[in-house]
Amino acid sequence: VGAALERARTDPFGCFEALDEEAALERARELDRARSGGASCGPLFGVPIAIKSNICVDGELTTCGSRLLAGHRSIYDATAVERLVAAGAVVVGTTRMDEFGMGSSGENCASGATTNPRTPAGGAARSPGGSSSGSAAAVAAGIVPLALGSDTGGSVRQPAAFCGVFGHKPTWGRVSRHGLVAFASSLDTIGTLARSARDLELALAVMAGPDGRDSTAFERTDLDRELAAPDARDANRPLAGLRLGVFDDSALTDVDPHVLERFTRTLERARELGAELVTVDLPHHRHGVAVYYVLAPAEASSNLARYDGVRYGRRVEAGTSLEDMMTATRTEGFGHEVTRRILLGTHVLSSGFYEAWFDRAARVRRAVADDFAAAFESVDLIATPTAPTTPFTLGEDVDPLVRYRGDALTIPASLAGLPAVSVPVDVEPGRTVGLQLIGPATADLSVLRAAAALR
Ligand code: GLN
Repeated sequence: VGAALERARTDPFGCFEALDEEAALERARELDRARSGGASCGPLFGVPIAIKSNICVDGELTTCGSRLLAGHRSIYDATAVERLVAAGAVVVGTTRMDEFGMGSSGENCASGATTNPRTPAGGAARSPGGSSSGSAAAVAAGIVPLALGSDTGGSVRQPAAFCGVFGHKPTWGRVSRHGLVAFASSLDTIGTLARSARDLELALAVMAGPDGRDSTAFERTDLDRELAAPDARDANRPLAGLRLGVFDDSALTDVDPHVLERFTRTLERARELGAELVTVDLPHHRHGVAVYYVLAPAEASSNLARYDGVRYGRRVEAGTSLEDMMTATRTEGFGHEVTRRILLGTHVLSSGFYEAWFDRAARVRRAVADDFAAAFESVDLIATPTAPTTPFTLGEDVDPLVRYRGDALTIPASLAGLPAVSVPVDVEPGRTVGLQLIGPATADLSVLRAAAALR
């Protein structure tokens, strides 16, 4: 923990929103004392971890990367954090992120952008991806071995791919969302970033399961059964018998040639390891981005209504009425992207537009999920590149629609609530590439174990 804090203090990438050195060292000493006293140690004994700043850690800054929540400290631990800490992990700090999870470059962060640790020497600084920018960068930089992020449409997987680390988005409901600041509740998940799939598995085993504070968090019986089952795989052919679904080439035309080349090469390796490649067709997959950018802003516009200058965070006093104060607080507090999402969301929910936009998008979402369900009748997992490009250069001024389209490969699994992991298949600075494995609902361990075999 001391070494992690030392690295975090001199972090040149800007991964952290805040460090809490005293609390971390005190907790570490407590663990040491407990161990000398003969207490049993949890599976994460002494592991330093970083937490995205939209996940509550008691007493720590939970700013969600927003000016509106500048200085806001949580008064309780998220269930996921509570469980990691109970297993021996030590929180060293909270990390930077795109405001309220909206973005994919880490640049929509009130306290500043994070730099990708895998930026080529002497080259222009690359984006670590987002929105879990600081968490991914902190793992890639070797500051902490494990970090929590949140993934609503790709925010753990895409930064994992950009930073050359592993990132897991669990099945929706696998990990309690209690203490995760809501963006789009029907899509939000707490996910993990680490340098190995085995570490992700360890974290999942600790965090998963029902929670009296989140009625959508489901039983872990299947997980316990799988964890207890002996690994019967042949070490030389760990993917033997795995039917791996892949898209027809025409579905990946927007993918950068370098990304495609690494992806294809890794599929070859999967085949050598015993997997059988099967072409699958998901006819509604290509509508994912359109559907997501209706549904996620709609939910966000409702969730973000709570930032009214009364209950949380900053208040900007202005004018004479309550409404003046709220307007001034929200105008000053929210950044451009969040404002754009709120406008989009209120529009698609408004009377006269609801049927045309929200309702229709909800129906296409169902079709996307049904496509996956049909595909999983003939394959065990599906592989895609995680992101269509290698990391962007920081500071590029691009049309937001270009960034939205960059989420095309991660969004569908989110819409369907499925588990997915990004496996680093090229970690060369500036050229990092991730391969995404998607599994049927609750198959988190199959996804993670296949990921471990690929690397
Ligand atoms: N990049 C996507 C967005 O901006 C995904 C965000 C996320 O998963 N939190 O909405």
